[in-house]
Amino acid sequence: MSVPPYRHFTQIGDPVLRQKAEEVSPEEIDSLEIDLIIDRMVKVLRHYDCVGVAAPQIGIPKRIIVMEFREGKQEQFKPEIYEERKMSTLPLAVFVNPELEIISSQLNKHPEGCMSVRGYSAQVERYDKVRVRGVGKLGTPSEMDLEGWSARIAQHEVDHLNGTIYVDRMDISTFNCNSWEQINAAEGRSAIWFHK
Ligand SMILES: [Zn+2]
Repeated sequence: MSVPPYRHFTQIGDPVLRQKAEEVSPEEIDSLEIDLIIDRMVKVLRHYDCVGVAAPQIGIPKRIIVMEFREGKQEQFKPEIYEERKMSTLPLAVFVNPELEIISSQLNKHPEGCMSVRGYSAQVERYDKVRVRGVGKLGTPSEMDLEGWSARIAQHEVDHLNGTIYVDRMDISTFNCNSWEQINAAEGRSAIWFHK
């Protein structure tokens, strides 16, 4: 049986996604164990081509997040969508024990998904600007100001550390299965994969 840190994403219903993740102690911060967890998180992030991973999503109830909006990901979005959602490139950022400060009361409402609620999405309101502070790893500064989509990623990932999932914040009426049209076209012969 597979044990954490996993190479897949834990799914909603798994208690690890609903508990408050533990602070990483000062002695642990530079330990091999934490480095291995971070390494796995970065690998999973890139393998699944997503933009953020929180440690509970690979089965580890610790306060660690990784974020990246790689160069080239822009091509996956129509230019107007990229602009409207205020997306931008975000180099790999790794925070241990991140703290979030809201620095703009402006809210943006856009569709959001989660690898731990695979196959679905919904409109979620997020603050436009946040400051993330924590122990930066892999060259990440200890403080970063983020805006637009990057600020959304940070809010989504820090939520995971507090046992909160986007479905707790979404506009319920906008919740949808991403492949609903395809399901009709294929007369139901469609599947949501939890592995890539
Ligand atoms: Zn998520």
